[in-house]
Amino acid sequence: MTDASKYCLGCMEESGGIAVCPHCGYPQDRKPDSVLHLTPGLILHNRYLAGRVLGDGMPKYLNSPDTPLFKKGQALFAFDSIVGTWASPEMPGTGYVLLHHLFGEVNGRKGAWGHALGGMGAITQAMAAAASEAGARIRLEAPVQRVLVDSGRAVGVRLESGEELHAPLIVANVGPKLLFTRLVAREDLPEGLERRMAQYRTGSASFRMNLALSGLPRFAAHPGPGPHLASGIILAPSIDWMDRAYTDSRTHGWSRAPVLELLIPSLLDDSLAPPGAHVMSVFAQHFAPTLPDGRPWEAARVAAVETILETIERFAPGFRTLVVGQLALSPADLEERFGLVDGDIFHGQMGLDQLWAARPFPGAGDHRMPLNGLWLCGSGAHPGGGVTGLPGRNAARAILKARRRALDA
Ligand SMILES: Cc1cc2nc3c(=O)[nH]c(=O)nc-3n(C[C@H](O)[C@H](O)[C@H](O)COP(=O)(O)OP(=O)(O)OC[C@H]3O[C@@H](n4cnc5c(N)ncnc54)[C@H](O)[C@@H]3O)c2cc1C
Repeated sequence: MTDASKYCLGCMEESGGIAVCPHCGYPQDRKPDSVLHLTPGLILHNRYLAGRVLGDGMPKYLNSPDTPLFKKGQALFAFDSIVGTWASPEMPGTGYVLLHHLFGEVNGRKGAWGHALGGMGAITQAMAAAASEAGARIRLEAPVQRVLVDSGRAVGVRLESGEELHAPLIVANVGPKLLFTRLVAREDLPEGLERRMAQYRTGSASFRMNLALSGLPRFAAHPGPGPHLASGIILAPSIDWMDRAYTDSRTHGWSRAPVLELLIPSLLDDSLAPPGAHVMSVFAQHFAPTLPDGRPWEAARVAAVETILETIERFAPGFRTLVVGQLALSPADLEERFGLVDGDIFHGQMGLDQLWAARPFPGAGDHRMPLNGLWLCGSGAHPGGGVTGLPGRNAARAILKARRRALDA
């Protein structure tokens, strides 16, 4: 087991347990007096605060002295600039990813993120109930095998069972790469689309674990219960840490010191675990979509899990003894289970060249795909990934508008 007391509370580098950290000067006996001081190394994830600071004057913060506190502040912002994005926060374009993760609101609180009572399935159940009430018929366990095309127009789908369904409009919620490389036959692709899809960048480098815990973890930086445990807990104390994790992932597939986000939703929702027990999700960043040595993820999953659990153990000694059940999903598992090509949680990278009018590609930013009758409504369309409902809403509006125009003509 790792001896966490050797690590500095400020920078989480090995400090040898002496009073003042030789790396960052953080006094180890310092009493926490604010959120950021309270949890150096264990950064409380307050997107509302982050949004305000960004709006109030980011340059002031970025130009501030290179103190441990400011490093923590930078790390606080930097996590959202690389979440679901295979990049270092030092790389151009990550500023947009930060903005993307701040532009929502929950119950009127701008920049905040919410927890769905009953778990994420509660959201799709609510959507299903609303759709059924409006007359929709939902078919489950009915994977689409092919989009049927007749004379350059999408006219229906064939299910894996062989059943064919025909409709005047086909609205696809799968990612564009899945749609155009596997569901639409090659001979039905409009000219140039095959090349475009070969260039479309996927791969968010995400590794997911769901854990059942017999109790709450105790973080060395802030042992004991408290509101920090019910927040997003980011294990990534500095931008350098994130930069190294990214570089490692390019050479080795993942880092020995990865960037992790932990959530314990059972602290907010007691329907998720028996009394005293908890569930935790671990959202691990920079786990390469395909491994550099050519190994399949199947052969590497156990080693990746070991790295993740050891990293949490380093921040929260004794953590591993709490784990009573686990599910691990590598990028390959995310593709296999959910059809996320290259395990991309956003259906395609959110670089500036794949956003706005260029999402999924120039000429198709209005949800209308270059195959008549085919529309895109999932997160491969603008404004991209996240549980926002926005790509679907925008697609519905675009389709209704096109229909009104057709009726008026
Ligand atoms: C590990 C992980 C963590 C995440 N964390 C967050 C977070 O904290 N906050 C947040 O906002 N977002 C998060 N996201 C992203 C968010 O889940 C997605 O952006 C969002 O679900 C996209 O919704 P969607 O409807 O566009 O696509 P999806 O949710 O991907 O839905 C596509 C559906 O199509 C189905 N499908 C695939 N192939 C076929 C086929 N051939 N026939 C029929 N159906 C098919 C899939 O099974 C799936 O149900 C996370 C995603 C992952 C994977």
